[in-house]
Amino acid sequence: MFLGDGMSLPTLAAARTLLGQRAGRPGEESQLSFEAFPTVGLAKTYCVDSQIPDSACTATAYLCGAKANLGTIGLTAAAPRGDCAASQRRANRVHSVAAWALDDGRDAGIVTTTRVTHASPAGAYAHVADRDWESDAAVRAAGADPRQCPDIAHQLVHSHPGNRFKVILGGGRREFLPEHVEDEEGAPGLRADGRNLIEEWQADKARRNATYHYAWNREQLLQANATLPDYLLGLFESSHLRYNLETDPATEPTLAELTEVAIRSLARNERGFFLFVEGGRIDHAHHDNHVELALDETLELSAAVARAAELLDERDSLLVVTADHAHVMAFNGYTHRGGDILGPSDDADSDGVPYMTLSYANGPGHRRAEGSKRPDVTQDADYRELRWRSHADAPLASETHGGKDVAVFARGPAAELFAGVLQQSQLPHIMAYAACVGDGARLCDAHSAAPERD
Ligand SMILES: [Zn+2]
Repeated sequence: MFLGDGMSLPTLAAARTLLGQRAGRPGEESQLSFEAFPTVGLAKTYCVDSQIPDSACTATAYLCGAKANLGTIGLTAAAPRGDCAASQRRANRVHSVAAWALDDGRDAGIVTTTRVTHASPAGAYAHVADRDWESDAAVRAAGADPRQCPDIAHQLVHSHPGNRFKVILGGGRREFLPEHVEDEEGAPGLRADGRNLIEEWQADKARRNATYHYAWNREQLLQANATLPDYLLGLFESSHLRYNLETDPATEPTLAELTEVAIRSLARNERGFFLFVEGGRIDHAHHDNHVELALDETLELSAAVARAAELLDERDSLLVVTADHAHVMAFNGYTHRGGDILGPSDDADSDGVPYMTLSYANGPGHRRAEGSKRPDVTQDADYRELRWRSHADAPLASETHGGKDVAVFARGPAAELFAGVLQQSQLPHIMAYAACVGDGARLCDAHSAAPERD
């Protein structure tokens, strides 16, 4: 399963246009890798208590199969956000398709460009009343007891199903290290309990007599790709991975490289595997109104899906690509065919001031009008630099998510079931049905023997 965090429909249309324009074509006719998949549907993303969701309640939906409250992960809506005691009640817990796969003897793993403890990947393994509880210090800061409600990093290393993941790749070293310990690149840890969870992860795998490898840079990852240890943990930054356009490709792995190593590792299990791959920084770039970065991160996800599509056989491997929620980027104006997707619209507003083809309904890109007209953002000193902000209507420190539906693309066994307008929480149930794991196993005999659906 591939997730573009915040990868709204306008993001897809704009990203494919940028892809074509980078190749010297008009661009609109281009295709992202997963746009070639045979089935597409839409998913409704609202959460139980929120019209427009966050990445925590949506992760609970698309990984655990139940809609939840904003900010909560791996819990039903009976657990209010921040309620430690409620998160410990068995009846309030929901389990992920990764756990269902492991329980059936398959393998599982996660890959992300964010911290591996961030809300989306945490949906694969954590049960937590607040997505911000990534380290014990954060649990304590919220007034809860980390011994009663372990933080997300602790759950990943020591609890089922995270402690059985064969592959964990992303960022977030700081959540695993004590505050007095610096990581390999000099950044301090955040943990107040003095524990080094990277060492504890290695000790746990050693106790199981398994081979294991901890990587913190690209060279070590490629080494693991050659040796394929039983267990692989890669943490490449203190926090999130850097944006693809701002990183050093010699020392930092791409999402496609991470995806390839993960698939090659997990594919050794003949019973199969579940892998979650997230392009997590599309969302961050949108929140900052950094439109070029958001589109480029979308293209990185597309490249990762393309790599997976090459490595996996369509006849036995289901690929699902979706987003958790939309954003409020508009793709607007009447620009001519092939017009620069990152530029202003062909025509100006009714005061004669240019407006951007890609702009936002809200966010930090808002500029106050000096007279009666909107400011002309094309006159900014840093216009079109990577960290330039497109213009936004309502001023906000961080641009918001959007409530629009998101697309679901599918290829492989049972792909046709991902058509139509779906509840986001249906996705893992359909994947389980296709793979005959979890609740889907009950129906497995029926569907493998069933006639073609019409
Ligand atoms: Zn977000």
